Amino acid sequence: MIESPPLVPTGVTQQVAERVHVIPDQRVEFVPNAGIVVGDRATLVIDTAMGRRNGERIREEARRLGGERKLLLTTTHFHPEHAFGVQAFGEATYVCNAAQARELADKGAEYIEMFSGFGPGLAELLAGVELVAPDITFSGPSAELDLGGIVAQLLEVGPAHTRGDQVVFLPAEKVLFAGDLVEDRFLPIFPDADAIGPRWLEVLDQLQKLGPAIVVGGHGEVGDQGLIEALRDYLTTVRDRVGALHAEGLALEEIEQRLEPELSERQTGWDNQMWIKSAIGSFYAALSG
Ligand SMILES: [Zn+2]
Repeated sequence: MIESPPLVPTGVTQQVAERVHVIPDQRVEFVPNAGIVVGDRATLVIDTAMGRRNGERIREEARRLGGERKLLLTTTHFHPEHAFGVQAFGEATYVCNAAQARELADKGAEYIEMFSGFGPGLAELLAGVELVAPDITFSGPSAELDLGGIVAQLLEVGPAHTRGDQVVFLPAEKVLFAGDLVEDRFLPIFPDADAIGPRWLEVLDQLQKLGPAIVVGGHGEVGDQGLIEALRDYLTTVRDRVGALHAEGLALEEIEQRLEPELSERQTGWDNQMWIKSAIGSFYAALSG
């Protein structure tokens, strides 16, 4: 149970490239890595964190770095700790892919309830949250934001972690904001049936082909393509082991019993161990179509 509200840290913002900043999550559960990109004309914020209070912290940091430039906001996916702080960005223009906006409309209320059940700390952050629809949406595969001297590409890549996954790539700086499609030493989360293991592997290939030098995952330390490779390695193992046991005729429950301890040992030191089962279930469902 999360007893006190997980808050975006202050005074720790790191610069990862010229004009590109990250407020690191410091491995606080339910806090994301947030991005701030400062162009000549506009400042782009990537992900809001959960609730108005956290959103305000990120908006204040964006104003500290970008001054009075026009404020643009985007989110990598609709999950509460990434997108349920939009209401703190009143003056910003909020842009994201249409699939993500539809997923928020479909599941937003349900996710407020689900996350509020994870403890009083989250319930406090989520009380009074208003789900804000984007001002502008685009329909895949990409949209480009020219911030002045720096360009950000919004790429629709879902479904993988969610139906509406969107990443942000800065092609000149080779910086990728991957949302929860890539995380540093956190096991990937498959929270509902729209998280699809085989698709997730395809998306990791797609992200690698962008050739990022710096990868900012949804959670955990900023890294390079090694973060993508480590996750691909894990998901490939899950796929192959589930496939082998499925071919032997084992039922899902037996596969879970066999694989959960095996995968847990393999991923020693990674957090989110309770989500191993969800990855097994997703690859199993894909086989049983
Ligand atoms: Zn997520």
